[in-house]
Amino acid sequence: MTAEIHAFRCLDDNIGVLVRDPATGACAAIDAPEEAAVAAALDEKGWRLTEILVTHRHADHVQGIEGLKRRYGGVRVTAPDKARNEVPGADRYVGEGDRVTVGSLEAEVWDTPGHCRDHIAYWFAGERALFAGDTIFTLGCGRVMESTYAQMWSSLERFARLPDDARVYSGHDYTIANARFALAVEPDNAALKARAAEADAAKAQGRFLIPSTMAAEKATNPFLRARESAVVRAVKLEGAEPVAVFQALREWKNRF
Ligand SMILES: [Zn+2]
Repeated sequence: MTAEIHAFRCLDDNIGVLVRDPATGACAAIDAPEEAAVAAALDEKGWRLTEILVTHRHADHVQGIEGLKRRYGGVRVTAPDKARNEVPGADRYVGEGDRVTVGSLEAEVWDTPGHCRDHIAYWFAGERALFAGDTIFTLGCGRVMESTYAQMWSSLERFARLPDDARVYSGHDYTIANARFALAVEPDNAALKARAAEADAAKAQGRFLIPSTMAAEKATNPFLRARESAVVRAVKLEGAEPVAVFQALREWKNRF
């Protein structure tokens, strides 16, 4: 049986996600940006929270944990090993290569440093679903704050090797701003123009483009396209390594 997945808005621009195993009723929240929004999503679906899977220790991803634990009881919180003692209410810590289950659903844990040193992602191969936190966004990527650009680039490159139909759930909806930047990098990318129009239409209807797919990201997300000649030309780095192109893009976006 395939997982039931529900993505919803929290705070201003965070995205909360619930992943439920219909076989057992087990249900995980990916991060806990806001107790009330997660609880409202659970009520709306009629699901019972059993797990919280934390992608990284930033406050806007963990501040709802303790309230949710108090509210529901028996919720197990899985957090990054590299954020030991920094995630409130954590019950166990995981890192690269560990496996996490939500009922009969199984995820592989990937260390994905870049946005911060402790960042991890959860790849549910059987569901073709990636919970990527603040490493990749629809049409964008997280700020590189505590790790090197090379680490962030290799985290993104690893995502890019996932199957084209992998569904990508990210921790924020910055899609409209990301589309504006992506178009500044690649004004002639037809797939990107179509996607930007789709993002505008979704916004007008109160929707957002999450999940994305890896195929769509590879075709339109500039941060996965540092090998494309149009992108290399946009940052005037002909002949440079992709990681240098990636860094120039990210620094440009910071100023954009
Ligand atoms: Zn963050």
